Amino acid sequence: MKKPVELIFELSKPGRKAYSLPACDVPEASEKIPEKFARKADARLPEVFEVDVVRHFTRLSQLNYAVDIGFYPLGSCTMKYNPKVNEVVSRLPGFLRIHPYQPEEMVQGALKLIYDLEKMLCEITGMERATLQPAAGAHGELTGLMIIKTALEHRGEGHRNKIIIPDSAHGTNPASASMVGYEVVEVKSDERGNVDVEDLKKLMSGEVAGIMLTNPNTLGLFEERIDEISKIIHDAGGLLYYDGANLNANLGKARPGDMGFDVVHLNLHKTFSTPHGGGGPGSGPIAVTKELVPFLPAPLVEYDGNRYYLNYDRPSSIGRVRSFYGNFNVMIKAYAYILTMGPEGLREVAECSVLSANYLMKRLRDYFDLPYDRWCKHEFVISGNRQKKSKGVTTLDMVKRLIDYGFHPPAVYFPLIVPEAMMVEPTETESLETLDAFAESLIAIAKEAEENPQLVKESPKTTPVTRLDEVTAAKRPIVKWEFES
Ligand SMILES: *Cc1c(COP(=O)(O)O)cnc(C)c1O
Repeated sequence: MKKPVELIFELSKPGRKAYSLPACDVPEASEKIPEKFARKADARLPEVFEVDVVRHFTRLSQLNYAVDIGFYPLGSCTMKYNPKVNEVVSRLPGFLRIHPYQPEEMVQGALKLIYDLEKMLCEITGMERATLQPAAGAHGELTGLMIIKTALEHRGEGHRNKIIIPDSAHGTNPASASMVGYEVVEVKSDERGNVDVEDLKKLMSGEVAGIMLTNPNTLGLFEERIDEISKIIHDAGGLLYYDGANLNANLGKARPGDMGFDVVHLNLHKTFSTPHGGGGPGSGPIAVTKELVPFLPAPLVEYDGNRYYLNYDRPSSIGRVRSFYGNFNVMIKAYAYILTMGPEGLREVAECSVLSANYLMKRLRDYFDLPYDRWCKHEFVISGNRQKKSKGVTTLDMVKRLIDYGFHPPAVYFPLIVPEAMMVEPTETESLETLDAFAESLIAIAKEAEENPQLVKESPKTTPVTRLDEVTAAKRPIVKWEFES
């Protein structure tokens, strides 16, 4: 029987070749490779024809799911369609071929782009200035918390050693806080899915450095008492950190700066037209209030009315957090995206992404448990608890079945406060037909869970491999061919 994926080593036959090299046209080196470094036996490489190589890699590429293939409703990690024009722009030779060591005079265009993008992001977030150095969201969190720490030290408040984080938060938040040396204190969520303000008041003390919040939070819900929370933290001498990894719902509608936040990170690779997954590249700019500007990483790009330049003269800066300019290619795409959308277009992103999420939530609410029954923002969380209790079919089973229906699963088992959570983020780039097809698939799966639970538990059926041991796959990945001998 034909195996679903034939690996290139399995196709190997001695003597087959996929290359032809021209004859050597330079003299052979007089020095031979020293004996101890020389290979004793030929390298064990697959021997195949060129067409085998092409088919091997093309087949592998077709096993990947991607947002360019279908709907990718991954809550808390906005996976939206990113217009191809931004990719094209980011590869213009004038951008692509510059070298980070080129003198400022030769890269005025690149510096202007960084300068203008910083201004745009400050406008969008309601902040004073920003650094584009951090290479990802978590890197931005680390940078932002270092700024908070340094700012408090400058106030003579360096003893503050606690950061408050809600129990619904993204896992990178507590991880970043402890990397900076803070003790993480968890604040509970209330029954509406907001920060429990009474619990927060109890946690306040002279040791609190600040709070990290996501708004809308990871339940997709807007923090209804954000003004009050901001006052509580500021009155106690702390600072507010905003996790803006997924800004879709707020674009042109609500600004972290106006909510009272002091530091904001953005994920250009979620909201601003860079696809993500597979480890990068990303960009996690940090924007801050006027008070915190002195502590931003050096250098910042400045304009003297005549030319753009890198300003290293920043005595209170936390220092550099990334080599050269950061991930410049991602910045170009964000710049092109913001320019092509314009203020009205960005506002429409917010409106459509919120509308799509509420539409899907309403379509699914009768078939799954809905732990927080309110209007959502760009995403919502449903629970597979009903199916688990009834027939022992878990959320994991149901989202694996979704693969058979042609969809990428939503984020699952997160946030941690919702048992059997499914976190769905449709984004603004999907048509009504796609949203309907997704809703109908999940509804069909809910029915299957009742009538034929075994089918759901044994899914997916349509993929080359079915259920993997995900822990072993992550901890002990086998990334190279092992010879049997
Ligand atoms: C994705 C995400 C992060 C982390 O961003 P990375 O670029 O993956 O480091 C932080 N917070 C939230 C809410 C996120 O969705």
